[in-house]
Amino acid sequence: MRIQLLPSTFDAQGVATLEQRLTCFLIDDCVAVDGGSIAIALSNEQRSKVRDIIITHPHLDHIASLPIFIDDLYPTLKEPIRVYATPEVIGLLERDVFNWNVYPRFSDLKNDYGPVMEYVPIPLGSTFQVAHLNVIAVPVNHIVPTVGLVISDGQTSVAFSSDTAETEEFWRIVNEMKELDALLIETSFPDQMAKLAEVSRHFTPASLSQELKKLNHNGMDIMAVHLKPTYRQEIIDQLNALNIPKLRVMEPGKVYSW
Ligand SMILES: [Zn+2]
Ligand SMILES: [Zn+2]
Repeated sequence: MRIQLLPSTFDAQGVATLEQRLTCFLIDDCVAVDGGSIAIALSNEQRSKVRDIIITHPHLDHIASLPIFIDDLYPTLKEPIRVYATPEVIGLLERDVFNWNVYPRFSDLKNDYGPVMEYVPIPLGSTFQVAHLNVIAVPVNHIVPTVGLVISDGQTSVAFSSDTAETEEFWRIVNEMKELDALLIETSFPDQMAKLAEVSRHFTPASLSQELKKLNHNGMDIMAVHLKPTYRQEIIDQLNALNIPKLRVMEPGKVYSW
């Protein structure tokens, strides 16, 4: 499985910067997990292939350019963009984003070939299919309805925490997996901002190290993601000081294979 954390910003030469301002993971160049930077960081080839997008929760950093992505492709789509989310999150996207005020309700619109956007309601705790991938969505502990994901292609399994603080069900599902190749887990704030992390339901390096004690698997790659750009280096230093084997920070733009 190839996973790329899409970049959010680019320097004056057009090179992806290391700060992660938006969240969008691209799997095997065709399935997206969240859509924060989906309209600004895909290659033309990727743009022609991505039709399946799983949305973990409706926070702006996870959906910011999703409406623009659909807008860009609108006249050329020969199949709809499928947005996979829980019924709760679909309701919030329809109410707050695709509501004719912020942006058009694409799920009601058709181009010459047919519908341009289709919601696919996803179950909690049981497997569903997205393109060639088997996915399990699990509620996590964030301030809006949010799911973590465990995604398998039959050979490789990767867990995505999405945005969360201390949680239980996610670890139960993760620990039930026969094998786990990588865990992508959020670490939003540095330790000195533990209060803000707590009220906004995110991890710091210290709370992450406690949380990882719930993980039974050993030896897989643990990729820290969702580091607030302003505190990126501090968070990295604090993560390194934890001395957790195979824990590193995921770099936007780089393609990782598991
Ligand atoms: Zn969030
Ligand atoms: Zn977020």
